[in-house]
Amino acid sequence: MTTPRVLFWHRRDLRLADNLGLVAAVGISPAVTGVYVLDPKVIDPPEQLPPMAPARLWFLIESLIELQQRWREAGSRLLILEGDPVAVLPQLAEQIGAESVVWNRDVEPYARERDRQVAKRLQADGRTVVVDWDQLLIAPELLKTGAGDPYRVYGPFLRNWRGQVQAKPPICVEAPSDLLDLEEGVVPDTAPLDALLGSHGFHGSEICPCRPGESAALLQLSSFCDGALFGYEPDRNFPGVVGTSYLSAALSVGTLSPRQAWCAALEAREQARSDEQRHAIGVWEQELGWREFYQQALFHFPELADGPYREQWRRFPWENNADWFERWKEGQTGMPIIDAAMRQLNQSGWMHNRCRMIVASFLVKDLICDWRWGERAFMELEVDGDLAANNGGWQWSASSGMDPKPLRIFNPATQASKFDADGEYIRRWLPELRHVSSRDLISGEIGALERRGYPEPLVEHKRQQAQFKALYATIRG
Ligand code: FAD
Repeated sequence: MTTPRVLFWHRRDLRLADNLGLVAAVGISPAVTGVYVLDPKVIDPPEQLPPMAPARLWFLIESLIELQQRWREAGSRLLILEGDPVAVLPQLAEQIGAESVVWNRDVEPYARERDRQVAKRLQADGRTVVVDWDQLLIAPELLKTGAGDPYRVYGPFLRNWRGQVQAKPPICVEAPSDLLDLEEGVVPDTAPLDALLGSHGFHGSEICPCRPGESAALLQLSSFCDGALFGYEPDRNFPGVVGTSYLSAALSVGTLSPRQAWCAALEAREQARSDEQRHAIGVWEQELGWREFYQQALFHFPELADGPYREQWRRFPWENNADWFERWKEGQTGMPIIDAAMRQLNQSGWMHNRCRMIVASFLVKDLICDWRWGERAFMELEVDGDLAANNGGWQWSASSGMDPKPLRIFNPATQASKFDADGEYIRRWLPELRHVSSRDLISGEIGALERRGYPEPLVEHKRQQAQFKALYATIRG
């Protein structure tokens, strides 16, 4: 009797360890072949969707190169194909004689529709399709309010989510090691990753704090959990401090699983020496909770991807000054904390969370630009661009989302004075302002002589705030 062949389709789970779909695949048969499909609709989508950020493409390709090596070490292979998965996967399954095809589920609307079509084609060909949840600690269907509805508010979601994780703590599974490869001659062409690596156009790989590949993700996780995690609260708020994990890209493409992150935090708890340290670990777990909150929100309310959650925001009279928007995007607004943050994003592909909130509030509430412009600009630049987290973050900042707080407006100078009081972060990303005093860097009131080509502030916060509130009054109620 021949061993049945299984095809495992990698998508947002670019690792072999603790991959629940892969565990299911190996449970069917050790003769597993891996595949990743470079889908043109994701990598180079139609104009109405944001193109994949060069930083994200770099992260993806580097991670795939390592993943191919890991498959070889495990005894089998990872095929990299190009095309529409709806056509490519049934064809490949036929070619290699796969009886079953296995993958992990996704929350994004495009992926869900694509998966439905792939499954339909495979099943019509008489193949078994096995799907599982992997990118979340708790499946979205298991997280409901007492009334049986999906959560719209983070606080009660967090209580239920955390309760379920603690009641059944995750167990991390080792990578498989004894897989059986395909016989010679049945292998289709594999897309050359090296060529793609040369064409991603990202020049910040040296300074990007997110490192691609499964091994790097595990190393980053363990070094974070041995050090910065114990001071995560309050360090996470200060962009000039190395105080967060930089694991967002890894969690987004799945070079790390959320269970690996959770288990490492649990182990760190045992090493904690004070209530402050235990509290800091709890705060980091809450951030993993935000990640899952936004993913379950997108799963239950796919319309979030198309615009504001709160209906009245569709009528907001945005001013949408295209010149201001470009200046914001390039870090040339004349407000140092905003420009430092946008240059960090442009150069390194990553931005600190505190700064993401500050620049988002500034674009929406000071420049009065539609938040969807900012959402798209982030996706075009971020190494960790993630539809659920990015949309959630922008809707939170714009006040158009599920957050029950009515109108949150950040004053950039106040934010800078609280979170970059010595101007260290600003100086790092705006070297032309190194000579300026911290007080002036924070307030943005820089004398004409000291500017040396740095632009005058585009807007005055107080005036814009009043203007924004007047416009908001027209859609209220
Ligand atoms: P840590 O502080 O170490 O947190 C650990 C993990 O928790 C992160 O890696 C991330 O997966 C998750 N997380 C933390 N904060 C949030 C949050 N507020 N929302 C959702 N998940 C969170 N995050 C993305 O992963 N992709 C995005 O495209 C993205 N866009 C954003 C846009 C805006 C306007 C805002 C305000 C936030 C956005 N975030 C996004 C959330 C957050 O800024 C990043 O996850 C965080 O800065 C990543 O750094 P870290 O890995 O060091 O996080």
